[in-house]
Amino acid sequence: MNESRPESMSAFWMPFTNNRDFKASPRLLVSAQGMYYKDVDGNQILDGTAGLWCVPCGHSQPKIVGAVREMIGQLDFAPTFQMGHPAAFDLAERLMDYTGHKFGHVFYTNSGSEAVDTALKIALAYHRARGEGGRTRLIGRERGYHGVGFGGLSVGGIGPNRKQFGPLLSGVDHLPHTHNLLKNAFSRGEPDFGAELADELERLVTLHDASTIAAVIIEPVSGSTGVLVPPKGYLKRLREICTKHGILLIFDEVITGFGRLTTPFAADYFEVEPDLITTAKGLTNGVIPMGAVFSKKYIHDAFMDAPAGIELFHGYTYSGHPVACAAALATLEVFQDERILDHARGIQAYWEDAVHALKGLPHVIDLRTIGLIAGIELEPIPGKPGARAYQAFKRAFADGVLIRTTGDIIALSPPLILEKQHIDELFGKLTAVLKTLD
Ligand code: PMP
Repeated sequence: MNESRPESMSAFWMPFTNNRDFKASPRLLVSAQGMYYKDVDGNQILDGTAGLWCVPCGHSQPKIVGAVREMIGQLDFAPTFQMGHPAAFDLAERLMDYTGHKFGHVFYTNSGSEAVDTALKIALAYHRARGEGGRTRLIGRERGYHGVGFGGLSVGGIGPNRKQFGPLLSGVDHLPHTHNLLKNAFSRGEPDFGAELADELERLVTLHDASTIAAVIIEPVSGSTGVLVPPKGYLKRLREICTKHGILLIFDEVITGFGRLTTPFAADYFEVEPDLITTAKGLTNGVIPMGAVFSKKYIHDAFMDAPAGIELFHGYTYSGHPVACAAALATLEVFQDERILDHARGIQAYWEDAVHALKGLPHVIDLRTIGLIAGIELEPIPGKPGARAYQAFKRAFADGVLIRTTGDIIALSPPLILEKQHIDELFGKLTAVLKTLD
């Protein structure tokens, strides 16, 4: 195993990275176990972000690693076009169990971005299969992140991610985001103000007519734009408006799926039933790339019942890759055997208290918590947006804690297996870092 520094770092064009800055002072991870990474210098780094929100059961989970090894030795690859393999079917059934049978079908992808584009395509094709092909408009939200495919970028609402690639898909609108520092700062769980922002959907329906709108896609809790928790009642109101007008509601649960809010999905936490769910990340505990779209039975049936049995002309070479299926099956087993959701529920209050204890530290202008997520918003340095949080990220890493930042917001999302001592270590070190910032 190579644990030494690479001879050159020039050829790798790193994603979502300030390449020049990084390569001048790189952070290199060489191994991981449980709650910790180890870096190239042998330092232990406490993982406050579950990698990129994708390791709920902790690193190098033995059952998952074992299942992957076994499947690679048995079936390295098998197509799922016009043929299949047992693990893909077994996993689909287990996933439906995991959703409490609120969904009837699953379509496999390799990533969250692909899951989003797949869900948008399913929504468009569903309306066509039912003879409502005029429903082509898609609605996303400001400050929404739905990956980097052209569909996800178009419905996403992050300016810098979009502006290099325009004009993107036409016929897309955006609801306003719900972030409100004036009224909702330092909320625990769902903030009180802002449910009425869902009524903006009625405005778009009046403007365009419901017969032109296919779907609304939102993250129940936005992660990549800084942990934006929906106001009380907001998601239920969106659901009502969508139902009233025959618009499909898609929850992008790429980060909120698999226990992040201490429930199987955020949809369970908020008691709102979307028509489609996109997910990825925790599905395989991050070990092998995999994404998925969960579909209500009636959506799938619309294709099966259509004249001449219209099928969905869509799929990926690696849809339902056997090794990814093995990782996902083992992950679901670990969730059950290790009672991961119970553990997350048990530790949630301690987590929330630790986050809110940061109130009063220099530059902290908001703290937001829900499930095992935290958003710590810092006051920006005038003229240098994002610089303060980036400084916190670098100093925390040097002190042995991995945090994530977006703009001037620190987002935390640890593996769900964390214990009180990890929370103490994380917030002890983070407090020290926050006290040193410019
Ligand atoms: N949707 C959401 C809500 C996400 O947070 C992400 C990734 N952070 C994606 C989609 C894209 O997933 P991926 O990076 O696996 O393509």
